Amino acid sequence: MDQLTEITLKGLKVSPGICVGKAYLIDNEGVDVVEKYIIPVQDLQHEIQRFKNAIKKTREELRLLIKNTPEALKQHAYIVESHMMLLRDKNLYDKIIETCKKEQINAEWAVKKVTSNLTTIFQNITDPYLNARAVDIGHVSDRIIRNLLGAKPLDITKINKRVILVAHDLSPAETSQIQLEKIMGLVTDRGGKTSHTGIIARTLGIPAVLGLENASKIIKNDDLIIVDGSSGTVIVHPEEETLIRFHERQESFEKYQAGITRESHQKAQTMDGIDLQIMGNIELPEEVVSVLAHGGDGIGLYRTEFQYLSRPFFPNENELFDKYQEVVEVMAPKPVTIRTLDINGDKAVAFGNDSNETNPVLGLRAIRYCLKKQDVFKIQLRAILRAAAFGNVRILFPMISNYDEIIDAKRLLDEAADSLDKEGAIFTRDIEIGMMIEVPSAVVMADIMANEVDFFSIGTNDLIQYSLAIDRGNKDVAYLYNPLNPAILRMLKHVTNVARDKGIKIFMCGEMASDPINIPILLGLGMDELSMSPQSMPAVKSMVRALNIEDSKLFLKEALTKATALEVAQLLEETYGNLVSDKTYK
Ligand code: PEP
Ligand code: MG
Repeated sequence: MDQLTEITLKGLKVSPGICVGKAYLIDNEGVDVVEKYIIPVQDLQHEIQRFKNAIKKTREELRLLIKNTPEALKQHAYIVESHMMLLRDKNLYDKIIETCKKEQINAEWAVKKVTSNLTTIFQNITDPYLNARAVDIGHVSDRIIRNLLGAKPLDITKINKRVILVAHDLSPAETSQIQLEKIMGLVTDRGGKTSHTGIIARTLGIPAVLGLENASKIIKNDDLIIVDGSSGTVIVHPEEETLIRFHERQESFEKYQAGITRESHQKAQTMDGIDLQIMGNIELPEEVVSVLAHGGDGIGLYRTEFQYLSRPFFPNENELFDKYQEVVEVMAPKPVTIRTLDINGDKAVAFGNDSNETNPVLGLRAIRYCLKKQDVFKIQLRAILRAAAFGNVRILFPMISNYDEIIDAKRLLDEAADSLDKEGAIFTRDIEIGMMIEVPSAVVMADIMANEVDFFSIGTNDLIQYSLAIDRGNKDVAYLYNPLNPAILRMLKHVTNVARDKGIKIFMCGEMASDPINIPILLGLGMDELSMSPQSMPAVKSMVRALNIEDSKLFLKEALTKATALEVAQLLEETYGNLVSDKTYK
């Protein structure tokens, strides 16, 4: 037999871990080849009925998917629910019918045309969540087209051997059907780190490498492959030596993972005895379980806007209260930091947005929107104050760029409390108030702003975007997007100094906090709390335990003398490289 040549493919390291096994190729590309043809006027009605039938079938499929979602992944069923909402969306449903009629074209083509227009709109939005909606639209479109073509739906639950899934793309709906005893790993051509498919793979703890571009063309069914989700590598037809090397890597990764997960419930205490609070970032109440399971000390960022997206109307006070209360009660007595609405700009909702902004990221976003739409804001403030009676709640105002905004936000919070008081409602007025530091003007004004709040929470995702003038979702300038940029480090230094001088607490909830390599800097800065996705907690905690504050301070001092992000990164690598490569298996 011919010796097959070993091939190494590089993609995005989306979910860590290593697995070795046979490839199972999923062919879901057929829907990409759709033909356009003209429908005679007299047949248009029939064509539209064909489209409606396909929608009905798609809805039934999705309903079944939700019903059959394994218990461990129930918290992700909302993704499929949001796909069902899309089927009803006017921008999609009505527009497809209208396009069919107006242009007298077949339904498949109309679906393709309308959804690719919508996808382009979402792809141009910088927010990673809304960016991911473009992917959702693509998946829904594929499903409708598959039903129009009469093709069989993909059913990965039918796989009856232990394999590694290889696909051009895998929708979250499909990924959420994965049974752990069958599927060892995931490899796809499309998809990014923040895609829902990636998030699910991390929740399941299976190695995944996405964004490989052409893996599904290179890998054939039953090929032996190695997936290294920690380095973003896939090896096809591995040689004996490679297999041995990866087997060892797999063993040490599993040992390491078991170790840090076991220790995740212990405190994040530095070698010189300083405790750091490690908190969870959540978008939905269901994620609280994962925060607790990973040993989180509380919720550092509850992104409440997700309850406003994917729905036709604003939620009412009781709906909001129910969700907040659930989180607060489960976490009590640990703190829950509820961030008020951060919609619009790049997280636009389909409703309640009457302006047409050319530059939405610099527009009526977050606190600016809430101060303008005070009725919407007050409903949320009342719900937060009511939930506060059930545990330990802090409120966090996003995107403060002017002193007046924090004053106005606090006044409205007071008014909300007064109205609850008058009604004799159960609530707590006495909660800690914080503001996000994510706009450069807030950094510059931090000393004055600090007089008004109990804590600052640094949102590096936006702070980098606004300070370095880099659209956070634009891949062409992504090479400049780096938390280690000296300008960012100096801003962080300034804000932490101010917080210490003013005696207020200083937290970080941007992505910078979730990468173990950044921890020496964050410790040197004297952060009180770091907030991150639950899956990042064990590695960050383990890193904290390997460091001490005094060394970190000295390290920071030296890092602050550097001129470029690269120099800072090199210094980190020289000083802490061993520690980090051990910790993350990069
Ligand atoms: C940030 O900007 O760093 C942040 C945490 O907020 P979001 O990612 O929700 O904009
Ligand atoms: Mg932000």
